[in-house]
Order: sequence, then structure tokens, then C-alpha cells
Amino acid sequence: MSKSSNRRDFVRRISGASLTALAGSPLLAEVQAAGNTYINPRKVLLWESTRREFREALEGGALKVVIVPTGSTEQHNEHLAMINDTASVTLVAQQAALLLYPQVMVATPVSVGISPHWMDRKGTLSLKKETFLAVVYDICESLQTHGVKNILVLNGHGGNVAPLRESVPEFATKLGIRIQTKSYWDAYTREIVKKYMASGKAPGHAGEFETSFAMAAFPQRVHWEGVDYDKIKPLLHIKDPNSAVQEEEFAREARLASTAKGEAMIQIAVKWTAERLQQLMRTA
Ligand SMILES: [Zn+2]
Repeated sequence: MSKSSNRRDFVRRISGASLTALAGSPLLAEVQAAGNTYINPRKVLLWESTRREFREALEGGALKVVIVPTGSTEQHNEHLAMINDTASVTLVAQQAALLLYPQVMVATPVSVGISPHWMDRKGTLSLKKETFLAVVYDICESLQTHGVKNILVLNGHGGNVAPLRESVPEFATKLGIRIQTKSYWDAYTREIVKKYMASGKAPGHAGEFETSFAMAAFPQRVHWEGVDYDKIKPLLHIKDPNSAVQEEEFAREARLASTAKGEAMIQIAVKWTAERLQQLMRTA
């Protein structure tokens, strides 16, 4: 195993544990095993940094790009956690930032997105489009005020895609800096999806892809115990019949998920995101 893949595996294991545990203390043995390639995952997270660390990185010229992850807090069928999208995109962002350390930092994720289409499933939190975009804009403006010149708004929730694509170019013009937006699953070409997903679908919703991702990155957020989709179907009262059919499909396809598929898909997304960031830095 090469040193860089050693580091990648290592940081993935410890940083994927949970949002609050992103900066959790790694085991001493793991730090020793990673040797000189070890970088504390905390170091690329803006919200875990001190003002001194951020200021020195920015003013010293090391920090070139900040990622703003956007996710959701929404129902993910019966077996995945509501924070799934936010946790996934933040993980990809953090791993990409670590590959490019010290040039990239990750800003605090926008953890509620635009999810009106899931409001008939209890627990979903949804922002209005204007509210969501205002939050993203204000975060970008804060970064611009401090002197950040390049921002990647990295998205992890389907409902945010169109509004971001429409508005981010305006944000960039208004703030006079470079801001791009991508969803981390833009990494997946049709060939990649075909190769790794038996269902032929990614990202989908709580189906094979998202379940595989969660199994690989944060298995503690996968809860199959006691789940019986046939039993609960009549109890859910899903209003849109198409949505109900789609949910059943994804629930069936979720059974095709595996940790290995998740690991492969995460690595592809991380590498792809790192390449986008490098491109952003090169053309800056
Ligand atoms: Zn999702």
C-alpha cells in the first residue's frame, strides 16, 4: 500500500465517524502507522480551527480555496439517518481538502437544504429556496470579507442543485471572487455507475448508492434492525403515488448495498473533487 493511500484510508476511517467526531482523537497506533503522512483531520475544518490558524493559513498564502458543503436534514427512508446528505458531502469535502493540505479548508456545512418534496415524511426539515440561498450567500460573503478568493460550493442534496446552479454565478459576480458549485456525485459517469451499482443508479435516495456510502463512511448511521418496508407501507400515507413507488424501488435497491461499493464510490468522489479544486486553483 502506498503512503498516500495509507493516509487516505486512515483519515477516512476516523473522520467519517460522525459530524461531531470529525476532530475526534485518533488512536495512537493509527497515528504511528500513518507516520509522516499523518495530518490531523481537524486542520482542514474551519469550524474546528482557531482564528489564529485560519488567519495564518490565509495571510501566509497557503490557503487557496474554501469548500462550502451544502446538504440536508431529511428523511432517508426507514434505515438511514436524516443527516445523511450533509455527513456525506462533508466527508468528501474533508477528504479532498486533506489530499491537498494545506491549500484547502472546509467551511461549516449548510446542514438544512431545500426538501419540500419530503415533507410528508416526518422529521424532514426544509428551508425555502430564498432562505437557503441567502444562507449560502452570507457564508460566501463572510469568506470574501476575510480575503478568500476561491470558493467551491460542494453540494450533497438533490433539491439544492438547480437553485445553486442558477444563483452561484450571480454570487460570484456580486462578490467579485471565483465561486463554483458542483455536486459530489457529478464525479460519477454513466460507466462508473454501471460498474459499481447493480441497480444502475447513483445518487438516488437512500437506495443502493447512499446506503453503500453510509456503510463505508459511517456504519453507525445505518439502521436495518426492525425495518420492514412491506409492513410500514400502508402506515406512511405518502400522498404522491409516484413518490411511493419510487420509495419502494429505492428500499429494494438498498439491499444491494455493500461497504466495498461505498468505499469505491467515496474514493472516486474524493479524487474528482480534489481535481476540481486543483483546477480552481490553477485558473485563479
Ligand atoms: Zn440523500
